[in-house]
Amino acid sequence: MFTSLKGRSVIVTGASKGIGRGIARRFGAVGCRVLVVARDLPAAKAAANEIEAMGGSARTFAGDVTRFDDMEAMAQTAIDAFGGIDILCANAGIFPSAKLGEMTERDFDMVLGTNLKGTFLAVTACLPAMRAKRHGRIILTSSITGPVTGYPGWAHYGASKAAQLGFMRTAAIELARQGITVNALLPGNIVTEGLAEAGEEYKNRMTASIPMRRLGSVEDVANAALFFATEEAGYITGQSLVIDGGQILPESLAALAD
Ligand code: NAP
Repeated sequence: MFTSLKGRSVIVTGASKGIGRGIARRFGAVGCRVLVVARDLPAAKAAANEIEAMGGSARTFAGDVTRFDDMEAMAQTAIDAFGGIDILCANAGIFPSAKLGEMTERDFDMVLGTNLKGTFLAVTACLPAMRAKRHGRIILTSSITGPVTGYPGWAHYGASKAAQLGFMRTAAIELARQGITVNALLPGNIVTEGLAEAGEEYKNRMTASIPMRRLGSVEDVANAALFFATEEAGYITGQSLVIDGGQILPESLAALAD
């Protein structure tokens, strides 16, 4: 049994949809007070309403992780509403596809600006509140794509997700003596609203490449986030946890034959 996280103040960026929404719901279910952050306020409100309908506590903030003034206002909103910031889930991310030769400088800057710089800005904005309490949990949503694997069309995305881990390792050292841990989630293929658009064929192909023969759920990722947030995970920092049903394990297609 882990120590209860009831009453903890949690910020989840990119919490209006997909993995972030699942993480926000999970923290809400264990009694945390959750700030749901996304650019689209009505979508963020729908996610917050879902948490409140389960008996949880949630507020919303409309902000863009690429803007530092937004991230500072986000942190202040959590401080005003919940009295501080205990846990930051820097989850917001984008994954537009473009192969080399088609990928523009703008595409590259947009993906790195959101996924990498957005992580840096969210963390920087939340640090003063965590430092004041000499306690904090920072949980980044990276990916298997980049740190471990590659996928055509995602050179910029993979670079951003691998770079998040480089950022994490030094941040973990710098913050270790202030009681703040920094860890990363590396999801594989997770079922989200966005995956529906990729079509059945893509879904079937990805499922066939996973030893557990199922795609991940947002709950699978949220449970790992919850673990990193516990008191009991307090001696773990600068680490990444792969949540992928064994997807990165096979060394060839033969390893997946029945
Ligand atoms: P998603 O369903 O598209 O949701 C993305 C969330 O991020 C939305 O809430 C979106 O809301 C928000 N967002 C995007 N750009 C933002 C910005 N500039 N500022 C603030 N919020 C922003 O994505 P997802 O699949 O759940 O992915 C979430 C994270 O998991 C990403 O970091 C992604 O790289 C990672 N990941 C996903 C998978 C997967 O299989 N789905 C696998 C590995 C890693 P607004 O558009 O309203 O801002």
